Amino acid sequence: MTTLNEIGEIGTHATFDVHDPGTGEVVGTYPIHTEADVEAAVARARTAFDWWSGLDYAERARRLAGFAGLLARRMRQLAAVMHDETGKPYSDAALEVALSLDHLKWAGRNAPKVLGRKSARVGLLTINQAASVEYKPLGVIGVIGPWNYPVFTPLGSIVYALAAGNAVVFKPSEYSPGVGRWLVDMFTEVVPEQPVLQLITGDGPTGAALCRSGVDKIAFTGSTATAKKVMAVCAESLTPLVAECGGKDVLLVDADADLDAAADAALWAGMANAGQSCIGTERVYVHERVYDTFVDTLVTKAKQQRAGNDSGAKIGPITMPKQLEVIRRHIEDAVARGGRALTGGADSIVGQVVQPTVLVDVPEDAPAVTEETFGPTLTVAKVPDMDTAIARANDSRYGLSAAVFSKARGRELADRLRTGMVSVNAVFTFPQIPSLPFGGVGDSGFGRIHGPDGLREFTYAHAVARQRFPSLLALTTFDRTQKADDTMATLMALLFGRH
Ligand code: NDP
Repeated sequence: MTTLNEIGEIGTHATFDVHDPGTGEVVGTYPIHTEADVEAAVARARTAFDWWSGLDYAERARRLAGFAGLLARRMRQLAAVMHDETGKPYSDAALEVALSLDHLKWAGRNAPKVLGRKSARVGLLTINQAASVEYKPLGVIGVIGPWNYPVFTPLGSIVYALAAGNAVVFKPSEYSPGVGRWLVDMFTEVVPEQPVLQLITGDGPTGAALCRSGVDKIAFTGSTATAKKVMAVCAESLTPLVAECGGKDVLLVDADADLDAAADAALWAGMANAGQSCIGTERVYVHERVYDTFVDTLVTKAKQQRAGNDSGAKIGPITMPKQLEVIRRHIEDAVARGGRALTGGADSIVGQVVQPTVLVDVPEDAPAVTEETFGPTLTVAKVPDMDTAIARANDSRYGLSAAVFSKARGRELADRLRTGMVSVNAVFTFPQIPSLPFGGVGDSGFGRIHGPDGLREFTYAHAVARQRFPSLLALTTFDRTQKADDTMATLMALLFGRH
């Protein structure tokens, strides 16, 4: 059982317990850090930033590679903490850690190329200038993370912020503070000199205190509703925000798709991690020519999977007890409006375990189709053509990610989806590619983690125009002559007047 934290001792602070969602057993006790604790952590981070940002890119990359090495060697240890706190099966937990490692290397290695000073083109009027731009670290980044992917998701912000030269104060979800503690301890082994990455624990008010603490940016991952609260607090101090929020992701199945692969992917993207994936599939639209075969295949596969608390179950329990009410409401409402559960259903909910649920004939305005369910459920609907599939997919306030299964038209259909990310003939591929940006539009949030955009997200552009020799056409002076004005007018007419 974990009982220590570097700031705020258990004895002097109110605490909260973390429960194993499978057994209900207490697996950790953590302090609820106060506003004063948060401010102290941010003050320490300022000093750490001075030191960390003073290292060169190569040294920061070396430390991040060392961090990746520790995570790789101790993956099973970390997977056990993840399993205890979230109920996630061990092998899924290990997979999540594995998928994070490439990002650590990529961010460290590519930071100099993406952020380092580069020359910029000049125009005719500024031919005497040498222009350049560099992306400098913002300072201290506050990272607020969710519990559903407690390693991959916060690291997507933390690692890119660190590679860019920032210090980080990390507030994990109250459901996964042990994972946060573990990550910060490991990072401290490779960067022992300064508290470049610190942990604060607590609940919503602790997160709000971080937003108020004067950090230079907040990287928030969580629900859209909480993002709005975070944004309101950040607005008080003009603290910028990157918001990675929820989704209602679709999977489209065209008439020529490989139906077995599409059904397998829909099942995995919908049910893995008990459906608690921001980029998890929740809606499936299938061309009418292959609908029946697809549904049969999907249901056959779904019936072979079982959710449970035991080690044989590939689908774990629902982590947050309050989410069960949302899942139950969506299923019951769908069935009350004429939908049918071909597997699972509301009756299959026992304790915190929900069996894989495939719903068909659900009206498009039902919450099961419009709201994030965040459980192991899929709605499957028949469409007459792929134009209708695209229209339904885009008719959502969310726009995080999507998947398309089509042999001939995969890229074309992908291009028409209003989402931040799309996989073609596969699912969950884009987050595994560190050079691709990750993020959404609409209620799914704004800003990007991962890739060059993810590095720049934690920086500010610093532009320099250096005069190499005096201009032949002196324009920015009160001594400007009539001749200079006339020459400028002639030049402008020549350059732009033809259009
Ligand atoms: P929440 O919105 O409930 O919480 C997210 C984080 O915000 C937690 O650390 C939470 O702390 C904290 N928090 C809560 N209230 C406040 C507040 N007033 N001010 C500051 N911080 C606060 O989300 P969940 O943890 O339930 O995560 C699930 C959601 O995250 C889903 O909607 C999912 O789609 C989304 N998500 C999005 C991803 C993406 O990359 N787009 C990736 C993963 C998840 P505490 O838990 O202690 O209350």
